[in-house]
This record gives sequence, structure tokens and C-alpha cells, in this order.
Amino acid sequence: VPLVLTDFLDRAVELYGKKSAIIGDNQTFTYNELHIRVQKLAHGLKALNIEKGDKVAYLAPNTYEMLEGFYGVFHVGGVMTPLNTRLKAADYVFILNHSESQVLFVDHELFPLVEPILDQLETVREIIVHGAKEDTEHYKSYEKWLDAQPSTEFDRVQLEETDIASLLYTSGTTGNPKGVMLTHRSNYLHAMSVQHHLRVSDQDTLLHVLPMFHVNGWGSPFYYTANGATQVMLRKVDAGTIFKKIEDHGVTVAHMAPTVLNMLLSYQQQNQLKTNHNMRVVIAGSAPPPAFVTRVEEDLKWEFIQVYGMTEISPLVTTSQIRSHHLSKSKEEKYRLKAKTGYPLIGTKVRVVDENGEPVAMDGKAIGEIVTRTNGVMEGYWKNPEATAETIVNGWLHTGDMATIDENGYIEIVDRKKDVIISGGENISSIEVEGVLYDHPAVLEAAVVAVPHEKWGEVPHAIVVVREGHSLTEDELITFAKSKMAHFKSPKGITFADELPKTASGKIQKVQLRKQFWGDGA
Ligand code: ATP
Ligand code: MG
Repeated sequence: VPLVLTDFLDRAVELYGKKSAIIGDNQTFTYNELHIRVQKLAHGLKALNIEKGDKVAYLAPNTYEMLEGFYGVFHVGGVMTPLNTRLKAADYVFILNHSESQVLFVDHELFPLVEPILDQLETVREIIVHGAKEDTEHYKSYEKWLDAQPSTEFDRVQLEETDIASLLYTSGTTGNPKGVMLTHRSNYLHAMSVQHHLRVSDQDTLLHVLPMFHVNGWGSPFYYTANGATQVMLRKVDAGTIFKKIEDHGVTVAHMAPTVLNMLLSYQQQNQLKTNHNMRVVIAGSAPPPAFVTRVEEDLKWEFIQVYGMTEISPLVTTSQIRSHHLSKSKEEKYRLKAKTGYPLIGTKVRVVDENGEPVAMDGKAIGEIVTRTNGVMEGYWKNPEATAETIVNGWLHTGDMATIDENGYIEIVDRKKDVIISGGENISSIEVEGVLYDHPAVLEAAVVAVPHEKWGEVPHAIVVVREGHSLTEDELITFAKSKMAHFKSPKGITFADELPKTASGKIQKVQLRKQFWGDGA
């Protein structure tokens, strides 16, 4: 039996037909209703001549239209190509043409983003707008178009597990986004592994906080659907709305960036919210500072799990969940373990290697690059075999992330190769310095980058957002940092900012911050 993603919806329809599958802002669909909408969507795509391997692009926030799109596109053998909602017009031109997308589905609120570039699109033949009441000269209304399709069972295209399911563009944290090809098989096996680790069940209600166009949000519908869980959509990331949806729908689980968790913690504190809801766990990537873990567990009373991964590997390969032999440890010790990047998921091999590809010592000190071999590894970068060959060497995917590994196999990310600060021959982890700054009560957000220095080559510099109602000077924060860490690691200067540049998945774009000190060569 080929491992194809349509299996997941089939199972949910068979076992949970009458259960709520998707809760949108004003609508709820059962699995049976979702199934019918997916059949219609597939009929519609077939009528537009979408064939196996054709790219179908989506530009939408987290909506039910986007989620049903996954399965509709797979029914005709298409490749889901979701677009980041925070790009510039030129990026949309690049990605839509580069991916050779045939049809573009757009949310009505986002249509203005593509309207000015319509005449530059070389391959898009049809635009269909979610939430549009009427057709126009540029697009069709999604609901009208869907309504016109037959609701009979669609005769699906035969899929092989090696067929490409998605073309996902990376976050663009370090440069231009790259198109990552993932197969049905890699997404399927990734889903099986992650659902086991997160103990996903039919009792779960997921709130889609991470954008579904990003790989973390993109992968999660598969394992929540397969288990017959309910998925609640979230159009816009806003603390009040998130807490309200959690309360209203009895949400049990959410995946989010640490920057969003930070927002929730502030909101809870300001509004003195009680946390008497069903939330059992929150899952976050991107190196949360250790102080976070404690606050999430103590203030929000949610179990915190850190995961690590990247678009190129479907994405997850490690988790920091407490293992059975750590259960008897103190709370503080458990929080410390959870703040680590974690240990390999089932179906993944993760190693930390030196420049010669040899594993570094398992002592929690020696630093090397994370390489991984998993079922989730991409087929390659779309139309970029050189970058693929540089990234996957002898079957091992090179992540560009530097880490240590301890005697228990716990990996701890030190930094991205590109973000490490090299000062007087010493390597300084920007993440470590940020962790110290976050311990200061007035610091809301902090990012540490290398700036040029005559004597030391580079020195650490921090860009800091101060918490509302607090004040902080450069001297105060530097003195604080020096009292907590080696002086050479402490920032030599601080720039205060109102906000930090972030990717749509909530990651701080240090490359943008470096530009003010280094110019475009950052
Ligand atoms: P681009 O490749 O376009 O520069 P990106 O690397 O941010 O963007 P993603 O694939 O979305 O694109 O992110 C993967 C990266 O995120 C990892 O390589 C790693 O640097 C970082 N990351 C993910 N999880 C964690 C974690 N738990 N701790 C630290 N860093 C993490
Ligand atoms: Mg990357």
C-alpha cells in the first residue's frame, strides 16, 4: 500500500464522519461535509486540467478553504504550493513563476497583494478567490465555483508514495527562500512519527496558530486529521483572539513560535487571565530562552515541548519531551531539559559532526554541525540541483545549525552557522547571549548579532525591545549581562527598537538586523 496523504482523510471520514473536522470563524464542517467539499474541489481542479505533478498555489491565512485545499489538490495528484502571506510583490512574481504554478487560490483579504502583478505571471492560468462574493474579470469566486461542481465521489488519480506532495519555500531567514520538494512518503512517515511523540488523539482540538503555509503548520493537519481531531482555524495571530478560541472551543493543543508564546505570556500577565482551560500542551521551535519554559509551565500551566527541524526535513527531527527515566527529577531540572533542543524522533537519525564529518564528543561541550538522515528528507530543492548536492551529502542532510550533544543524547543548538559571532578567535552563540538578556525583567525581545570591531574582528551587539511600562538604559543592560556571563560574550552595545523584523513564522531576521552594521554583505 503506497503511503499517500489522502489516506488520512479517508480514515477520519470512515471513523469520525459526524464529528467536527474544521471550525472556521463562522462555520463548522464535519468530516463528512469536508469530504464532500474535497470531492467538489477535485472535480473543479480536474475541469481546470490540473494533472499529476502540476503545482497549485495557495495564498491564504489559516482558513478552512486552505485546509480542504490540501486534500482536494492531492485527489488530482497536484502539488500543494503554499505562499508566505508576508512577502513583497516581487517575491510572489518570483515564486509563482519559479514554481510554475498553474492555478492560484487567494484569500479575498490578500488578493490586493497579487493584483498589481497579474500581468507578470507566466504560468498561472486561473485565479480563484476565497470569500469573494462575485466573479470579476480577474478571478472566480471560490464558493460559486465550488457550488457548481458535482458532489459525486471523485475518481482519484493513482498516487505513488514517491510523488511530490508539496513544494514549500523556506522561511528566508538567511537569504532568498528556496523551493523544497517533499514527497507523500516523507510527509506521511513524518506525520506518523510526530503524532506518536505528541500523543495526538481523537480527543484533541488543535488551534492552528503557526501559519499553514510554513512547513510546521503545513505538516500538522495530516496527523490531526488522521486521528479524527478537530482543527480550529486562526486568521490572525492576536493574543486576545487566541485565548478566546482556546476557551470557546476547548482547544487542547497548539504549535507556535516562541515569539507568539511571549506575546501570550505578556497578555496573560497584563490581563491577569486565569488558565482554567483544556490546553494540555504547546509545541514550539526556534530556541526558546530557558526562562520561557518555566513561565509557560508555571503561569499558563501548559506542558511545554520544544521541537527542532527545518523545511528540508518535513520538518521535525527532535523533541525535548521528558523521558521516563527523567520523571523523578525536580521541576527545575525538567524545565532545564525541556529547554534543550532535544533527542531524535522515531524514524530519524541525528548526529553532530565536525568538519571531517566525524561525530563530536558526547560531552555537551564540543560543537559541530547537525546532520540528519530521516524519512522526511526532501527530494531536493526545486530547480536547484547544486544547492541540493551541497545540502545532502552521502544521504546525510546538512542543516547549517551548530550544536552540542551530551552523554544522554540530548542535542542543544548553539547557533546557526551564519549567526555565530567570532570574536578574537572565540565562538560566541548569539542564542546564549539572548538567553541572558531575556532574564532581565524589562526585556521583551532581544536579538544579538555580530558587528565589526577593529581589535576583535567581531563583537556581540544586542537589539532590544523594552517591555511596556519599563525603562532600561544601555549601561544597565550591559552591566546586567556582564554579571551573568563571561565579559567577552556580553554585548558591547545595545540598540533599542520598537520591534524586531520577523519572518511570517515569527522568526527574528538577524540578516536584516546585521545590514545596519555591515551593509548588504551581512
Ligand atoms: P532559510 O533557510 O530560508 O534561511 P529558515 O532556515 O529559517 O529560512 P525554516 O526551514 O523555516 O527556514 O527554519 C529552519 C531553521 O530554524 C533551522 O535550520 C534552525 O536554524 C531553526 N530552528 C528550528 N527549530 C529550532 C530550535 N528548536 N532551536 C533553535 N533553532 C531552531
Ligand atoms: Mg534554512
